[in-house]
Amino acid sequence: MAVIYDFIIIGGGILGHSVAMQLLEQYPNSKVALLEKENASALHQTGRNSGVIHAGVYYTPGTLKAQFCYEGNKATKAFCEDHGIIYEECGKLLVASDELEMQRMEELWERTKENGLERVRLDAQELREKEPNITGLGGIFFPTSAVVSYPAIVQTMRTLFAQQGGEVFYNAGVVGLSEHARGVKITTTRGVFECNYLITCAGLHADRMVKMLGLKPDFTICPFRGEYFKLTHDRNNLVKHLIYPIPDPDMPFLGVHLTPMVGGGITVGPNAILALKREGYSKLDVSWRDCKEMLGHKGVRHVIKKHFRVGLCEFKHSCCKKSYLSLVQKYCPSLRLEDLEHHPSGVRAQAVSGSGELIEDFLFYNTQRTVNVCNAPSPAATAALPIGKHVLLQLEAIV
Ligand SMILES: Cc1cc2nc3c(=O)[nH]c(=O)nc-3n(C[C@H](O)[C@H](O)[C@H](O)COP(=O)(O)OP(=O)(O)OC[C@H]3O[C@@H](n4cnc5c(N)ncnc54)[C@H](O)[C@@H]3O)c2cc1C
Repeated sequence: MAVIYDFIIIGGGILGHSVAMQLLEQYPNSKVALLEKENASALHQTGRNSGVIHAGVYYTPGTLKAQFCYEGNKATKAFCEDHGIIYEECGKLLVASDELEMQRMEELWERTKENGLERVRLDAQELREKEPNITGLGGIFFPTSAVVSYPAIVQTMRTLFAQQGGEVFYNAGVVGLSEHARGVKITTTRGVFECNYLITCAGLHADRMVKMLGLKPDFTICPFRGEYFKLTHDRNNLVKHLIYPIPDPDMPFLGVHLTPMVGGGITVGPNAILALKREGYSKLDVSWRDCKEMLGHKGVRHVIKKHFRVGLCEFKHSCCKKSYLSLVQKYCPSLRLEDLEHHPSGVRAQAVSGSGELIEDFLFYNTQRTVNVCNAPSPAATAALPIGKHVLLQLEAIV
């Protein structure tokens, strides 16, 4: 007779691993498996991001994002310290380049007060003293922002999970789900699995999990590619802190920033381009199935219409390196085209509602036997430990 697992988790990114590890901590005698369609963990969003442990600057007070980012900042650093993972608390500088951004910065100053963040306001002179290569009218410094390698965190989570008896199955792409009174049957490219309770953390395929369960989600996942450059070796001392522009409040993304990486090097980016394939890391990647699904969704059509002009600008920055560079030169005028080298891109999974909203907060959807993480864009890597805890609380309610 086939093994029946107590819990199965779909998705080998940071959220799947966080849930898997915490499940076995809470229920040490249970039988738990994690299924991943690739041949290794963290190959998608978790392994293709900026590596920032966010402080929680932008998020609306009272949202799960604001709460979990704040808690996740502390929890991630504590996890790294407990397990010997290197992180660097370099701090983050938000830079206002013009009067409009100075006004927007005031709003962020108030918001970060409500979110309980440590921060220091800087005038133009203080900004220059802190970062001689950065120019602006003013800024805010957040000392608790840090950088880390999220794949390194996942590797440790996987080791802890395996040490407690958890099983990881790679090359197990889930193609069918069937929920019944006593559990869930999971059909994969590696055979059929059975469990009492299922947790899905499928990132760019989150909506497809819910659809496979026979439900009709109101949202769809829209893939936004984030393209990066890396500074050439001789510019690696350009900045010491994370440098971010003041974001446009109408856009869910943070603007092209300079990010010192843990272990050396500085990335520039990411931008935000509607991708024509969910895991489309190159401009030439197109999936007709993904495009058909996107364009068939009323909400996505609304988003494209609403952000058409901004989308065209992003497209221009994507196609023209000089134009991309101009976004950074606004606050770092000494950067030149020859300072920028290729760096791999990432694709964000952003849920879009039927009414055309880019859903801001983390979103979960439960059934009698399943908990589904449906929207977990940035800062979900920072927030992975509190999100895992939240999923366990949701499970307690249905177990
Ligand atoms: C460009 C970019 C920059 C970012 N920067 C930051 C940052 O600096 N700080 C931060 O906190 N957050 C950042 N984020 C967000 C963060 O990376 C994600 O929110 C987080 O990694 C989400 O984790 P996940 O486990 O949900 O998704 P993923 O890492 O995408 O994992 C989902 C997994 O599910 C698997 N899967 C999907 N479908 C199936 C199936 N049918 N069967 C089996 N397995 C399946 C996939 O193969 C994948 O491994 C960034 C994201 C991007 C793209």
